[in-house]
Amino acid sequence: MDKVLAAIVRHERAAQENHRLTTEVGAALARCPVNVELQNWSLPAHRRKELTTADGLSKTHLWEALDIREASPTGHGSERLSESEIADYLADDPACEHCQLAWQLLQQRKIVRSELGIAKRALRAIGRAALRKEAAHG
Ligand SMILES: [Zn+2]
Repeated sequence: MDKVLAAIVRHERAAQENHRLTTEVGAALARCPVNVELQNWSLPAHRRKELTTADGLSKTHLWEALDIREASPTGHGSERLSESEIADYLADDPACEHCQLAWQLLQQRKIVRSELGIAKRALRAIGRAALRKEAAHG
């Protein structure tokens, strides 16, 4: 395979993987009991309000874990939980396997997105080199 085709394939593979993981994250979160409960159209308004943020986001276990702020060890302000603390929080009782899976998939997607960025830059480098060649042979 030549260099250009290899770069296109690399980009396409990462793009498809990114899309697949995004779909799977959505599917996992849809199975979180919080979202399942919100699917119930006859849910009383006060309960719906309890399970939703002011911005209309569902308060899934993953949302809760990402929302937690702890006093910073430096004593100034507060910090989010680290990636491993989020995993621990999601594994704690009541553990939500769906939010745990979503978090795992999001970690994978982070790696895939960085690969996607590298693949994009490689494609652009090929494009720029081709343009330079074109200009030189004008
Ligand atoms: Zn959950």
